[in-house]
Amino acid sequence: MNYQQFYKKSVDNPQEFWGEEARRIHWHAPYTRVLDDSNTPFNKWFVGGQTNLCYNAVDRWVESQGDSPALIAVSTETAADGLPVEKIYSFRELQAEVERAAAMMQALGVVRGDRVLVYMPMIAEATFAMLACARIGAVHSVVFGGFAANSLATRIDDAKPKLIVSADAGSRAGRPVPYKPLLDEAIRLATHKPEHVLLVNRQLVPMQLTPGRDVDYGTLREQHINARVPVTWLESNDISYILYTSGTTGKPKGVQRDVGGYAVALASSMQHVYCGKPGETFFATSDIGWVVGHSYIVYGPLIAGMATIMYEGLPIRPDAGIWWNLVEKYRVTRMFSAPTAIRVLRKQPPEFMRQYDLSSLQALYLAGEPLDETTSAWIAGELGVPVIDNYWQTETGWPILSVAKGIEDTPTRLGSPGLPMPGFKVKIVNELNGQACGANEKGVVAIEAPLPPGCMQTVFGDDKRFVDTYWSNFSNEQLYSTFDWGIRDSDGYYFILGRTDDVINVAGHRLGTREIEESISSHPNVSEVAVVGVEDKLKGQVAVAFVIPKDAAAMETTESRRLMEMEVMGVVDRQLGAVARPSRVHLVSLLPKTRSGKLLRRAVQAICEGRDAGDLTTIEDPASLAQIREAVAKG
Ligand code: AMP
Repeated sequence: MNYQQFYKKSVDNPQEFWGEEARRIHWHAPYTRVLDDSNTPFNKWFVGGQTNLCYNAVDRWVESQGDSPALIAVSTETAADGLPVEKIYSFRELQAEVERAAAMMQALGVVRGDRVLVYMPMIAEATFAMLACARIGAVHSVVFGGFAANSLATRIDDAKPKLIVSADAGSRAGRPVPYKPLLDEAIRLATHKPEHVLLVNRQLVPMQLTPGRDVDYGTLREQHINARVPVTWLESNDISYILYTSGTTGKPKGVQRDVGGYAVALASSMQHVYCGKPGETFFATSDIGWVVGHSYIVYGPLIAGMATIMYEGLPIRPDAGIWWNLVEKYRVTRMFSAPTAIRVLRKQPPEFMRQYDLSSLQALYLAGEPLDETTSAWIAGELGVPVIDNYWQTETGWPILSVAKGIEDTPTRLGSPGLPMPGFKVKIVNELNGQACGANEKGVVAIEAPLPPGCMQTVFGDDKRFVDTYWSNFSNEQLYSTFDWGIRDSDGYYFILGRTDDVINVAGHRLGTREIEESISSHPNVSEVAVVGVEDKLKGQVAVAFVIPKDAAAMETTESRRLMEMEVMGVVDRQLGAVARPSRVHLVSLLPKTRSGKLLRRAVQAICEGRDAGDLTTIEDPASLAQIREAVAKG
């Protein structure tokens, strides 16, 4: 079968196509229907089927390859010299650790359907916690360790976890980054209070346990060292996890995912897109806090019977050879990273990469942000393997666009993430009326219902928001909006041209400008603020803030302005995390708005990027633009 036949079958006959793909996973009880699309967009995959993500990722492989590596946890953060500290868990050992963690959760009162929030650095226990939740039917909600107290509190209040699993600290460039104080502050801020907090003590920083609430992971683990916890079989459409993602409002959305459809989508993509085989090693350099970490650090490779590398550390410490050292050592066959990381490596002398035997590596996949041709061509040249751009979102859980190397060696095209993956009926449509655009005509990337297995079921706790946000952008209610601009060329290759909304992408991290604005507004001397995403050579985009101070008179000296800028950055660091910190804060006395008071964000962004500010007929006061120009020119 070639790609065209493969894709055509997936969209013309989804029942048959996905019915065949579903054989890639273990079902405890068969499903009665492949797809129930009677209540679009709330489609159900594999209705009535019983399965379990943890069983498919771990137990299933214990019999056939129990002693082969499953989880390879590497940290270059915890040894003083930055050298890697490595621990390999075989499938059997992983199963034992997951059962211990599951027993610990049960001892703390967690039952099927309860939410467990995981706020963890990239350590093995984070994977144990996720798989333990999956095993007992608890719903995990992993929050990126780089998020700070307010971001965490919002997520605690939305997910209402019974248990939080965390650690004393993460570490960056060898310096501990305490988690516990942020977590305590988040719980203080949140209305919902978890019953327990389970804490891994890495002994990186001193930590104070709250009696009655906080429990030491190591101590409780000892009590459950021989625990056997049977798998809880779940209905395919039960919830596996929630993962929050930024949008246009200040409140992140809980992307909710199912069990069976997700397992099938991952097994299918591991075969057709990532071409992984049992016994091989997969290395995704992302973080468990992001969707790539869920799908292709934890679940995908393990479901495919592969070993997965979980890496805590920077790509350039102890030197820029560290990733390639791991590729050589663990005979990595497939690697997954992000363009920003590769741009960082490109700035380093290539000798670091060249000293390792990379002959095991067959392909490098890059996703999460636009891949520029220079970066793509450079890394392909260095590695001598195909570099495959793939485009997807937290919402979809696996690639919308890529090339299906496992089906056909379709050529890639520089600047394009490729062709639609099975089941994704991708359309480029006019942003106003949803009519299909012609070849090479710019429009919004939309996907016609039903979305294939593995995509979000709804917004956690808010079906209306799911419909309103994603399915109400065009007159056709069967069209899902990705909120990305794109074009399709005459050969069917797609090109992604940036977001249509106020979401920005900093080093592959998706951030909402509204969230950052709300955080900055809480500074007592901020009257108004606008945050825009501005093109950046290394990170793709960075956030830049324009602030109108309440007390402008007090901001006249350079020193007072500098102080104010630092304070604003500090507020974002404390509330959202350094990941969301604007790279620049400019103080102004006016912001460009329409006469009806709407911020002309695109005009601000255009000026920051040295482009023409576009149609300004609706602007209330043109002097505001002059101020933005002046501020940007000053740098
Ligand atoms: P996230 O949900 O954090 O994975 O962010 C998804 C967004 O990242 C998409 O809507 C795109 O704007 C962007 N994105 C992801 N992958 C790519 C890619 N390969 N090329 C261009 N943009 C991408």
